[in-house]
Amino acid sequence: MKSTGGRHHPLSGHPERSSQVRALLEGALGGGELGQFETDVLVYPRLCAVCLSGDEAALSNCADCAGVAYCSQEHRDEDAELHAK
Ligand SMILES: [Zn+2]
Ligand SMILES: [Zn+2]
Repeated sequence: MKSTGGRHHPLSGHPERSSQVRALLEGALGGGELGQFETDVLVYPRLCAVCLSGDEAALSNCADCAGVAYCSQEHRDEDAELHAK
């Protein structure tokens, strides 16, 4: 029986990225404040964790946790160091 480590917030290791996404979304919504819940709901779906591209066709999830996605192998590699536990 191996431990899967449970559920972790996919952005927990990237606080600066989380606020980056939040700022982006707030801008898109015309400056409205987003709560943590709304941010999570919006962030959880599929955005490239590196460039925040929302290109659904190109995105593929992290093979380890499936909590983040990347638009390309390049960005997957780029994030690998930061994202690895
Ligand atoms: Zn990308
Ligand atoms: Zn992962």
